[in-house]
Amino acid sequence: MVRIHDALYMAALAYGSTSGAAQQDETINQPAFDQQLDEIPPELDEPGGAGSAHSIASDEVADVVNQQSDLKLVVISNRIAPFDPNKPQTGGLAAALEPVVERCGAVWVGSSEECGDGTERPLRLEPTGTGYVSRLDLPAADHPGYYRGFSNSTLWPALHSLPDRMSVSEDDYDSYQRTNGFIARAVFDARDRDVFWVHDYHLLPLGAQLNELGIERPAGFFLHTPWPAPDMVERVPNHLELMKSTLKYDLLGFQTNRDMNNYSAYLRTHFGLETRDGIVTTERGQTRLKKFPIGIDPRQFADYLAADLSPAEQKKVSSLLQNFEGSKFAIGVDRLDYTKGIDKRVEGFNQLLRTEPHSISLLQIAPSSRADVEQYQKYKEDVESAINRVNAEHGTDRWRPIHYKNDSFSQAALARLYRAAHVGVVTPLRDGMNLVAKEYVAAQDPKDPGVLVLSKFAGAAEDFNENEALLVDPNHPEEIAAAISKASHMPLEERVTRWRSMMDKIESYTIHDWAADYVSELDKSRVTVPADQFHHLGLGWTNEAQMPLYQNYATALTAFNDVDPRDTALKEAAYANVESSSEALATPLMHTQNRLWVLPAPDSFA
Ligand code: UDP
Repeated sequence: MVRIHDALYMAALAYGSTSGAAQQDETINQPAFDQQLDEIPPELDEPGGAGSAHSIASDEVADVVNQQSDLKLVVISNRIAPFDPNKPQTGGLAAALEPVVERCGAVWVGSSEECGDGTERPLRLEPTGTGYVSRLDLPAADHPGYYRGFSNSTLWPALHSLPDRMSVSEDDYDSYQRTNGFIARAVFDARDRDVFWVHDYHLLPLGAQLNELGIERPAGFFLHTPWPAPDMVERVPNHLELMKSTLKYDLLGFQTNRDMNNYSAYLRTHFGLETRDGIVTTERGQTRLKKFPIGIDPRQFADYLAADLSPAEQKKVSSLLQNFEGSKFAIGVDRLDYTKGIDKRVEGFNQLLRTEPHSISLLQIAPSSRADVEQYQKYKEDVESAINRVNAEHGTDRWRPIHYKNDSFSQAALARLYRAAHVGVVTPLRDGMNLVAKEYVAAQDPKDPGVLVLSKFAGAAEDFNENEALLVDPNHPEEIAAAISKASHMPLEERVTRWRSMMDKIESYTIHDWAADYVSELDKSRVTVPADQFHHLGLGWTNEAQMPLYQNYATALTAFNDVDPRDTALKEAAYANVESSSEALATPLMHTQNRLWVLPAPDSFA
C-alpha cells in the first residue's frame, strides 16, 4: 500500500526536485498564502492566462500520484484556492495543495466567499479529482471580528513585530474563537479521516477545538507568517489561552529557525516548558516543532516564461517594458501591506538617485490588499505620495524614476517582468518567507542573471546567505540604496555565482517537497507501534512521534541494569533517571492508548 507521503514524495521527484523531501532537514513562505488564498486578485480569475499551462498535469506525474493512499488527509485553511484548471493559479501554495486534493484524495475545507447565518449544516463535499473541497459560509455576525479584527488587525501586526499597528479588542477575540469553533464543528463530520493539516494564523486554536469535540486524530498546523519574540505575543489578548491551545497540535510547522526559537522561548517563559530535540511534552502528549521552508515550483516558472500570455496581458507587459528600453530597472512586487516596507524602499531609491542621478528606475507592482481596513488605506496613500515626491524631485519630461502599478498581474506576466529587471528588491520589514524573492531568482537568465536585494528579516534570508543575495536592514533606506547601487554595477561573473547558488537551493526544496515533507512528518503522529514492542510499561501502543521519549526510557533502563547492585549510590541515581523517563513517557503513551479506544465513526467518505 502506498501512503500519501510516499506518493507525494514520488511526485516531488517527478517534478524535478534534486534532493527530494526526505533529505531536507532545514527549512516553506509567508506565503503568498494571504495573497494566494485570501485575496486572489479579480484579474486572475479570468480564464485563458498562461497559468493554465500548469506543469503538473503530465500523465507521468498523475500515474505516480494517483495511487490509492492509505492516509486520508483533511486540509483546513481560511480560504480555498480556485480549482478550475482554466484559471491561472496565483501562487505556489494552491499549486502544491491541488495535487494533494485531486490526486491523493484529501479533503480541503475553508470558507466560501459568502457569509451565512451561523446555522450548522453537514459538511458539503464537492468532489474534486479523487478528493473533495468543502466551502463553509462562516457566520456573518462574527466575521468582522474574526477576519478584519482579530486575525488581521491584532494577530497579523503582532506576528510581524509591529506593535504600533495593532488594535486590540476582547470582542474580536471572542468572534475569532467562535468562528474557529464553527469550523471545528463543521469538520467534525470528517472525524474518521486520518490526519488534519491546519493552515495559518486565522486558525491557531482550531486544533484545540477539534480536540474538545473529541477528535483525537493527529493534527498539524503550519504557520505561513513569522512567529515573533515573546514580548510581542504578550500584547495579544488572551495570549496564554491561545498559546496553550497551540500545544494541542501534534506538529507545528514554521518557516524558519528564528520563528521556531521564538515560539519555544514563549513556552519557556510563560509555561516553564522546555523544547528538547524539537519536541515539547505536555500532559496531552507531544507537540513536535519543525522547520518547513516554503518554496516555489521552479519548473512552473520556466513554463511560464515559455508560454504565451493572453493578448491583454501581453500588451500590459510590453507597454511597461517599453519604459525601460536601453536602461536599467529594479523590480518590487508586493501586496500593498505595511509589512512590505515599500515606503522605506521608495526612500532608499530617493537617496540612491541623489548620489547617482538617472542611474536606474524602479518598477513597483503593488496590488491593493485588505482595502477595507483603514490602516491599509492610509498605507496606500503614504506609499503613493512618497512615490510622487520622488518622481517630482528626480523625474524629467522624458524619464520617470518610479513606475507604479496598483494592479495585479498573473504569475506568467510577473515572470517576464522579473526576467527583464536587473535587480529584484524584496525589502519587507518582516515576512514569513517571501515567495517573490524566490520567483525573481527562478525567472532569471542563467547566462545573465539579475541580483536579489533581500531584507534580512524575510524568511527567505534564512535560505539565502550574504554570498548569494545582498542582505539589507529594511528599516534603513541608505542600506537599500547602497545595495541597489552595488547590484546594478555587479560584474557578470559574480552575478552568475550568486544566482547559481540560490537556484540550486530553490530546486532542491520545491513547494512540492514542502507539501510531501509536511504530510510525511504528520503521518508519523499516527499510531504505528504494536503493544508487544512496548512491554516495559505495559501501556499498549505508541506512535512514531513518541519514539524519542521511549528511547530515553530504554537507555535509562539499560544504564540502570548495567550498574553493579552493590554500588547503591550509583544504582539510586540511575533509578532516578529511569523513573523520570518513565514519567515523561507515561502520559503520551496513555494518550495514544486512549486514542485507540475511541473508535472512529463510520466512514462518511466511502
Ligand atoms: N502575486 C501575483 N500577482 C501579483 C502580485 C503578486 O500572482 O500581481 C503573487 C506572487 O507571484 C507571489 C505571491 O503573490 O507568489 C506573493 O507572495 P509573497 O510570499 O511574496 O507575499 P504575501 O503576499 O504572501 O505576503
